[in-house]
Amino acid sequence: MPTQPDQLRPLPVSPGPVHNETLGSYLHRLAIANNRPAGVLARLLGPLPPEFSPLSDTTATWTPHSPHGLATLAERPVTVLARALPALADFLNPDGPQPRPHRVIGRPCRCCTARRSSTASLVILVLPAHQHLCWRHQRWTRSTHDIPLTHLPEVIPAQRRLDQLARRYRHLGQALNLARKIVEEWSFSGMPIDLASEWTDRLDRIERHPASMRIPAEDRHHLAAFPEIAVLANLILDPPTHTIDPKELYIATTAELSRRFARIYTTFGTQDPLYQRFCKPFAAQTPD
Ligand SMILES: [Zn+2]
Repeated sequence: MPTQPDQLRPLPVSPGPVHNETLGSYLHRLAIANNRPAGVLARLLGPLPPEFSPLSDTTATWTPHSPHGLATLAERPVTVLARALPALADFLNPDGPQPRPHRVIGRPCRCCTARRSSTASLVILVLPAHQHLCWRHQRWTRSTHDIPLTHLPEVIPAQRRLDQLARRYRHLGQALNLARKIVEEWSFSGMPIDLASEWTDRLDRIERHPASMRIPAEDRHHLAAFPEIAVLANLILDPPTHTIDPKELYIATTAELSRRFARIYTTFGTQDPLYQRFCKPFAAQTPD
C-alpha cells in the first residue's frame, strides 16, 4: 500500500523507547499501544524490511526522511530517540567515533520488562554480547524465559569477571562464542577434563525452576556450563603463552585449565577441539 502523507502524524499513544531498544521492538510497542499493525507503521518510514519483527534492527530500507517520520509518530525529538535506539543513532552518524563492541539481540528480564513497558509488551534490546543476566533482579535472560539465579550463585562471579574483561577486550563476544563451541564439542567428543559433576549438579538446580522446562535443552546446558565457558573465554583472550608453536600453546593452556579447575586435563592432542579451534588458529595468527 502506498504511503499516504496524512498518515504520518503523531500517534495518539506514544510510549518512549527503552534504552538500547531495537527499532522493530519500538515500532511493535508503538503499534500495540495504538492498536495498529506494526508493519503499517514501519512502512511509513520506508519499505518493510524482510522478516520484520521485534528482533529487526535495520535501517537498510530507510530514506533520509525516515528519522523525522519516526520522530513525528513518537512525538519526540529525533535526538531524544537516537539516545535510546542504537540503529537510529548509527543511521544519523554512520561514521561514529567508535565501532560498537560485539552486540547481540536480547531482552531485559521479566521484571524489567514490566517496569519499562507500560503495556507489558515484549521489549527487545541490543545488548553487549557478554551480558547474560539482569543484575538488578538476578535472573539469567539468555533464553525465552528467565531463570532466577538464587540457586546458581556461581553464575554471578562468572558474569562479574566477564564484565571486567569487557572493559579490557573488545573481542570478548567472539572469545565467548569460541569458548562455548569448544565446550560443546568436548561434550560430544569426550571430555578431556571431568566437569560432569558440576554440570549435572547445576542442571538439577536449573530444572528445579518451573520455567526451565519451557526453555530449550541447549539453553539449559549453556547456563550449566557458563562458569567454565567464562574461564575458557578468559584464557582465550589472555593465553598463558604467546608462543607461535600451537603444540606449546596447547600444552600451556591445558596445564592452566588443569590448575584452574583443580583436576587432570587429558591431553587429546591435535584432535582436541581446544587445539583445533583455538591453539592452531591462534598460533597461525601470531607474528614472528
Ligand atoms: Zn531485571
